[in-house]
Amino acid sequence: MCLVEVEKFPKLQIACNTVATEGMVVRTDTEKVRKAVTGVLELMLIHHPVDCPICDQAGECGLQNYYMKYGLHKSRYDLEDKVHKKKVQDIGGQIVLDAERCILCSRCVRFLQEITKTGEMEFFQRGDHSEISIFPGRKLSNDYTGNLADICPVGALTNKDFRFKCRVWFLSSIESVCPGCANGCNVETYFKGDILYRLKPRRNDAVNQTWMCDFGRVEYRKANESRLLIPILREGGQAVAAAWDSVLLRTALRFREEAEAHGAGSVAVIASPQSSNEELFLVKKLAAEVLKTENVGFTSRTPGDRFSDEFLIKEDKNPNSRGAQLLGLTEEGFGRAVKAISDGKVRALLLFGNVLADFADEKIEAILSNVPFVAQVGTCEGAISRAAHAVLPSASFAERGGTFTNFAGRVQRFRGGFPPRGKAKNDIEILVALANRLGADWKFDGEASVFNALASASAPFSGMSYESLGFEGQAVAGGLK
Ligand code: SF4
Ligand code: SF4
Repeated sequence: MCLVEVEKFPKLQIACNTVATEGMVVRTDTEKVRKAVTGVLELMLIHHPVDCPICDQAGECGLQNYYMKYGLHKSRYDLEDKVHKKKVQDIGGQIVLDAERCILCSRCVRFLQEITKTGEMEFFQRGDHSEISIFPGRKLSNDYTGNLADICPVGALTNKDFRFKCRVWFLSSIESVCPGCANGCNVETYFKGDILYRLKPRRNDAVNQTWMCDFGRVEYRKANESRLLIPILREGGQAVAAAWDSVLLRTALRFREEAEAHGAGSVAVIASPQSSNEELFLVKKLAAEVLKTENVGFTSRTPGDRFSDEFLIKEDKNPNSRGAQLLGLTEEGFGRAVKAISDGKVRALLLFGNVLADFADEKIEAILSNVPFVAQVGTCEGAISRAAHAVLPSASFAERGGTFTNFAGRVQRFRGGFPPRGKAKNDIEILVALANRLGADWKFDGEASVFNALASASAPFSGMSYESLGFEGQAVAGGLK
């Protein structure tokens, strides 16, 4: 399909395996090239089932695109003469195989040999009965199977999770970063309206090459499921929907009253490594300059599996623990805050996110029951939102922008594709509104203004600007560690 005409060469050459040299003249769109490519395409389509209306690859299929450019011919082969192969085979991982649609390009075989080194797939049979398949009795057995659907140019390998959820031409996409672990793989988020449908890897050779893991692929669900969509005040155990103004005012008043009556040590703030650098910068500023408490910190501990490998997957399941550390938030501060809470010294607590370290729900309930007033800024429901006296619903990673610092110290931008769902608000907006109700005079307007303030205040980020980060990111001062 990549045949080209090269001056002084008697035959057409395959472009992908021809080294460009000084003065070489290459023509890609001559009559001779078109005729040859059309012939190759016709050969590929001889046994193809041409079941595009029921194929999930339709709209992003290499074969369809080539047919529009080079084909537009009538088949010289009768439908009943086609060789039929197995369709809809669950071959494990995130993948469904339809062998009939395969054009025998061997990308999947090479991926499994060269990238995952697990070699589960191979070609079987000969001639026009050649067929891609998995070894008998085996299933895909690696953590990167979703990439097979991305690299397969046709609908032979499709993603189980995304199949038939939405036609791709209805989706929009935007550059972002996977929030699933500290690696910070570059991705594109695909959405329609305010529903996120999938994440696909975006090339960044310094971080994830062109790949992402299967765990990261399903991170999109967090933006859709169990969302906190309205501000809530809880009184006498009863949760009541409230206006943003009331929740912010109640929270600010309560923090001020407790601090005035019992001292700054009676308030605590627990930050989340799921927050962006900009949000963490404001959380720290709120604790240090407005609430003046030392009970502030974060922890990278999370519930569940802490599996890692030698390739992309990191043990830390947060996208921004490194950023939190570089901004001066500490695990010691988290320990100090939790101890003060357990000792009954904390009377007002501000929490970010919907987990509290790796504590089970019962432990979270027990800890929070020690605090007379708990306010949560969070995206999803959980043990914290069920116990909090004030719930301030915040935007998911697909609805807001900012930067994460990955495990190696690379600061990378993620972008929101659509406005926050329901009545949720951007965390920066929530933090500014809260700080100003507590007497501050913050003028921050959006993540770029906060990042630029952060870069001038925090040494590791000095010299960076929001714009200069681009979409491939930059390493913090002092280089990667
Ligand atoms: S990547 Fe797709 S088209 Fe290519 S050999 Fe594998 S299944 Fe066939
Ligand atoms: S390795 Fe981590 S950052 Fe990359 S896709 Fe997987 S969970 Fe996301």
